Amino acid sequence: KAKKQGVNKFKVFNKAMHEKALENMLIETEIRQGLPEDEFIPYFQPIYCLHTKRLAGFEALIRWNHPERGFITPDQIIPIAEETGLIVKLDRLMLQKSCHEFAAWLSEYPSSRDMFLTVNLSSGQLSRPDLADSISKTLSDTNFPSDMLKLEITESAIMERNAASTLNLKKIVEMGIRLAVDDFGTGYSSLSQLQRFPASTVKIDRSFISRMAIDHESLEIVRAVNALGHSLSMDVIAEGVETRQQLTLLKEIGCDCVQGFYFDKPQPAAVALQLIKMRSDGFCPPGLTSI
Ligand code: C2E
Ligand code: MG
Ligand code: MG
Ligand code: MG
Repeated sequence: KAKKQGVNKFKVFNKAMHEKALENMLIETEIRQGLPEDEFIPYFQPIYCLHTKRLAGFEALIRWNHPERGFITPDQIIPIAEETGLIVKLDRLMLQKSCHEFAAWLSEYPSSRDMFLTVNLSSGQLSRPDLADSISKTLSDTNFPSDMLKLEITESAIMERNAASTLNLKKIVEMGIRLAVDDFGTGYSSLSQLQRFPASTVKIDRSFISRMAIDHESLEIVRAVNALGHSLSMDVIAEGVETRQQLTLLKEIGCDCVQGFYFDKPQPAAVALQLIKMRSDGFCPPGLTSI
């Protein structure tokens, strides 16, 4: 009997795996089809500065406007895109589209020149020989200032360095582009790896922010990462800020910037432009003025 159950279980497992594989193949095909169709667009999540209390920049986040299935989130896209190599095209498209958008906002509101745009770069791309040239071309094609761009690379990527990625990072930094370490605290990088990585910004992972008000250890981790970032002359962004309590704690700790649903979800370009307009009129979000 046990054996029979075991066999059945195996079949079920196999069937689920098979379905998953088919689903992934379908998504892969659909990504390929969607690429030339303009189905992939950036949404923009505001990032606020706790010192100036103003809108400081946006993170561009991919959204897939699928013709039948509606909006599809990155966690359904990125892993498959990374496995199949399609991520190269998606990341390039995202950089191109988000720089193009922001360049238009900038010409309408020149006062947004002191803002930044952060774009995610999949870690697998760091060793690509054409990476720096491709980024440089996108910046000149879109007429977007390199010193307004930050590329976000996850913490795990800073451990996988080789000669090619080191050269790319050097070229990127020489272009005036800044680097941010994304999801910090979830990888296992060492202090010396972080110190050698030429980043100007560290982003504290949302998991610590979400627990910091209820869990003392998470609070101490946030405090420590903030101090670590500052001691390496980096500015610190807290991701996933959802409550006033978290915001108040981050302000006390001395964190530089905040990003999260307490302020805004990732927004379509038209809404981001409205936020830039309000900023140019001197608007500060009410959540920030009183802290
Ligand atoms: P990430 O780069 O760490 O981006 C932040 C994610 O946290 C976004 O999810 C954002 O919507 C979400 N978030 C922000 N504030 C809050 C909050 O207060 N509460 C909660 N629950 N979530 C919050 P999203 O857009 O689903 O993206 C997920 C991940 O997918 C990103 O994490 C990034 O790793 C990846 N990704 C997104 N767009 C791209 C892209 O264009 N290229 C690459 N390579 N990866 C991307
Ligand atoms: Mg990111
Ligand atoms: Mg992140
Ligand atoms: Mg993340």
